[in-house]
Amino acid sequence: TNPIFTGLPTTIFEVMSGLARETGAINLGQGFPDIDGPEEVRRAAAEAFLAGPNQYPPMMGLPVLRQAVAAINKRFYDLNIDWQTEVMVTSGATEALADAILGLVRPGDEVVLIEPLYDSYLPIVRQADGIPKPVRIAPPTWELDPQTLAAAFSDRTKAILINTPMNPSGKVFSRQELDLIASLCLKHDAVVISDEVYEHLVFDGGRHVSPMQLPGMRDRVVRIGSAGKTFSLTGWKVGYVTAAPALMEPIAKAHQFVTFTTPPALQTAVAHGLSLGNDYFDGFIAGLQAKRDRLSKGLSALGFSVLPSAGTYFIVTDTGPLGMDDDAEACLRMTREAGVAAVPVSAFYVSNPPKRFIRFCFSKRDEVLDEAVARLAAWI
Ligand code: PMP
Ligand code: GLN
Repeated sequence: TNPIFTGLPTTIFEVMSGLARETGAINLGQGFPDIDGPEEVRRAAAEAFLAGPNQYPPMMGLPVLRQAVAAINKRFYDLNIDWQTEVMVTSGATEALADAILGLVRPGDEVVLIEPLYDSYLPIVRQADGIPKPVRIAPPTWELDPQTLAAAFSDRTKAILINTPMNPSGKVFSRQELDLIASLCLKHDAVVISDEVYEHLVFDGGRHVSPMQLPGMRDRVVRIGSAGKTFSLTGWKVGYVTAAPALMEPIAKAHQFVTFTTPPALQTAVAHGLSLGNDYFDGFIAGLQAKRDRLSKGLSALGFSVLPSAGTYFIVTDTGPLGMDDDAEACLRMTREAGVAAVPVSAFYVSNPPKRFIRFCFSKRDEVLDEAVARLAAWI
């Protein structure tokens, strides 16, 4: 039997969405928008499906999308990327993360993980026989302690996996924190597996910085993006990896036996999306920032302490006005009794999680956010 995946619980996102479907609750749990992304991107997909070909595209992805990924790396981060050897298309960031970990981590290699962590990281590190080295950051500031981080690195460290902007905390890593991570990677000859699916969702005028931009890091970072998040098309599952050829080689070998390819029409359409002008990206950020503020204000008025969110689809609150000190129980009862689903932050830890924090997804229509707050007000 498989010692890693056998017996694992179903992911919290599927559990909460399932319960929301069953009970008719408003789903502020799993991170997905309730409107679809730009019509012109969907139209490009529809046209590509009809025009074809709908056969296996090249394993690394369609040239048009790999070129678009290289171009966006130049446009937003001033990175010069060779689309032929340094870009690969995957079926979502989830696949890219699995490919990167399976491709790079050998048995006994240590992988530094930052808690709270996205739920797919740990099982894949374990599946690769890697040794997870969790480093915890704590609310409300979610600051990375330099000593704790340095102590997690050793000569056996193969990689650190970071996620900025970060799910579930809404943290955007500071330049100092990224510099520290870079210096430790250089010292210990480690790589950064950099989950940047929320790269285009940094609020309040901030700018996303990729660890790949830092001095000495260009060829030490595996940069992972997702069209699902960037274009509000989470069901499409189109992701992309940018990495130097020596890193890409084993990652591509993993990809060839995990999915091999991704539907070509979706790749064509995502290439179109990545070529949209800055007004798309600016409007996307402004729209989500207003939703963050709307839900934060509504929940604060009910007595929740809402932690600051500098990016992503998410805000974290305490369980405050619910009067419960178990976040999982609070989320289950809130879904069943108030008709509002959210996700317990305790699901994002390796062990011994804090149990007083709840994640709400705000990428929903305004009337849905308002209705959720009204339902909570009536219930509390
Ligand atoms: N990483 C993080 C931090 C996420 O929140 C998600 C979920 N959207 C993913 C990876 C997976 O992205 P995708 O849907 O493209 O597989
Ligand atoms: N990334 C999404 C979230 O954090 C969930 C994606 C999934 O369910 N796999 O809610």
